[in-house]
Formats: sequence, structure tokens, C-alpha cells
Amino acid sequence: MSLEKYKEKRNFRVTPEPSAEAHKSASSKSDLLYVIQKHRASQLHYDFRLEWGGVLLSWAIPKGPSLDPSVKRLAMEVEDHPLEYGKFEGVIPEGEYGGGTVMVWDNGQWIPESDNVEAALEKGDLKFTLMGKKLQGSWVLVRTHGFGSKPEKSWLLIKHRDKFASQKDIVAEEPRSVLSKRLLADIARENGGDVERAATGDPAKAAKPKDKSARGSSKSAGRRTSKNAH
Ligand code: MN
Repeated sequence: MSLEKYKEKRNFRVTPEPSAEAHKSASSKSDLLYVIQKHRASQLHYDFRLEWGGVLLSWAIPKGPSLDPSVKRLAMEVEDHPLEYGKFEGVIPEGEYGGGTVMVWDNGQWIPESDNVEAALEKGDLKFTLMGKKLQGSWVLVRTHGFGSKPEKSWLLIKHRDKFASQKDIVAEEPRSVLSKRLLADIARENGGDVERAATGDPAKAAKPKDKSARGSSKSAGRRTSKNAH
């Protein structure tokens, strides 16, 4: 576990992302962080992260997770991220690595089902239970050999059959941040990002909240105008 690649890819004088160091993993610590960040970068994807060894092991999932056990979602292994990253929601400036809008789409804890996590990662077959706000129950990450642009980095995220398995299209039906209830477009608007591009990552039907009492459309229309000014 190392954050060298994470640091190499980023200029912390420009990006608001955390520059934090790796934590010593406390063996007594029982709560392991789980987080998924929805990231409208050059391509929309969901960054799936599991705390291990003082960092967040990370996979980028283009289509996001599926609650349907018959659906396998490609998960590309990416560089470890600092634990602090799990709280990051905002805008990475254009031109920087991963430039675009980031939302904390789900978070909670995870429990390894494999006795030896290091061995499971090495083998490419990690079983675990998620205790998130959107994702729960038993899942597996399996390394696949032979497809994707980087075969050795390709894994599949698959839901196990249990009471949390379902046909519900979770990414379409629950598009908002678990931290702030915002959509990607809201996060972009409030952080000087590209609102129109961020909005392409939000479901079309989510653009107009059913409850019109809370966030008025006139307010967002006004901010969109000011965004266009710079
Ligand atoms: Mn990402």
C-alpha cells in the first residue's frame, strides 16, 4: 500500500483534493471505511474504495455497481488513495488529473469475508460485506485476466445473492450525494465547475426534484447565469 502514485499524479497547489499521508493501520481498528465517489471526469465512473493498510484501495467502475447478482461490472484497479479522500466532494480543476466533479455517492463500513485479505487481493478474489447507505450485503471483487485496456488491473464487482440483491437500478434511482443530497450539477455549480458537463452524469429525470419546495429552480437558474459569466 503506497500513496506514491497518488501524489505523482496530482499538483496539490492546484487541486482541492487531500494531499494526506498514509495512516499507520491500527490492528485494533474495527471500522473499515467504504466509499463510492461518483466522478464526472473525461468519462463518468464510480470510484469504489475500501480502507485497507491505512489507505483506500481503489477501483474505477464505469457503469457503477449493480444490485443484480447476474450483472458483472468492470472495475479497473487504480492507485491507492489517502483515507481523507473518502470525504472529498467538489471540483477537480480542468487540466488536472481527474479534472471534473466528484460526489460522495455512498459510504459506510465494510467487513472482509475472506480470512486473509492480503491473500485474497493477491489471488484476485475478495469477498466482503458492505454496510453503506445505498449498498449492503455480500459482494465480491474478482480479478479477470484478459479483457479491458489493462488486463492485469481488470476486476469485476458482483453482488452475491442475499436479501439485499435486487433488480432496482440503484445508480439511476439514487443519484444524489449521501453527504449533501446534491446532484453532480449542484456540486459543480457551487464549486466553480462545469455545470453542463456535470449534469450529463445526473439522470435526466433527477434534474427536476419532485419536491419543488426545497431547492427552488429560480435559485439554480440564477447561479447558472453567473457561471456563464466566467
Ligand atoms: Mn475517478
